[in-house]
Amino acid sequence: MRSKGILYKTEAQLRSMIAPGIATRLGLEAAAAAVKAGVTPLELDAIAEKAIRDFGGEPNFKLVPGYSHTLCTSVNANVVHSIPTDEKLQAGDMISIDCGAIIDGWNADAAVTVVVPDPNRPALVAAREKLSEVTKNAMWAGIAALAKGKYLNEVGTAIEKYIHENSDYGILAEYIGHGIGRDMHEEPPVFNYEVHNRGPQIKAGLAVAIEPIISAGSPVSFTQPDGWTVTMKDGKDSCQWEHTVLVHNKGIWVSTAADGGAAGLAAYGVEPRPLS
Ligand code: MG
Ligand code: MG
Repeated sequence: MRSKGILYKTEAQLRSMIAPGIATRLGLEAAAAAVKAGVTPLELDAIAEKAIRDFGGEPNFKLVPGYSHTLCTSVNANVVHSIPTDEKLQAGDMISIDCGAIIDGWNADAAVTVVVPDPNRPALVAAREKLSEVTKNAMWAGIAALAKGKYLNEVGTAIEKYIHENSDYGILAEYIGHGIGRDMHEEPPVFNYEVHNRGPQIKAGLAVAIEPIISAGSPVSFTQPDGWTVTMKDGKDSCQWEHTVLVHNKGIWVSTAADGGAAGLAAYGVEPRPLS
């Protein structure tokens, strides 16, 4: 991955990344809307695939060698890369849904987390909602840092600061964001924590997936024997949110958000700009 270097996109190429962003969002919205007790992750997978294909996209996770699903569906202590199963969701479960689409050779990648309501366990639901909310807000803090910053590693500094100021959660070190374009995973790495160099310059043509991956307990994880599903070692909850963000001549645009990121970025005084 390192050998290719950062592939800065032209404005025309960035415009080509809008459609896969919409397809990815529609897949995620359809899957998230279907989350309830009794539904299976495999059913969510089929719902997301239909939404992506109805828009004219293709699920890009299926193009990853060895992976044959549209989504990764990580329930409770499973954190990322979880293969959808036929195990029914239970009241109170939290599920992180990671999704991507490709159109005309250009990619998008995004993730949301949903907590299944459980009137009998309000404390559990509240704790899981808080983990999801803090992770989502940390993602927006990172996206705002991309909009305002000079160097890419300001994103990770902002994410870590948000997490530490608002929780005692852990940040998984091994799973980070990435450049995105013709490949779903490109240079540069986008850290979720402070590192001791400033990283590449933020400038027009940069396209990145920003994806904090956060644990309620210790941030130590392991990969299950299926070779994909990553689970927290202490069995505690974990969470992922993700958006694909395009940096262009007039500002930034979150390609996987319906409003380009306007609502999430308002608190930071950042107004996303559509590509003209
Ligand atoms: Mg993803
Ligand atoms: Mg990603």
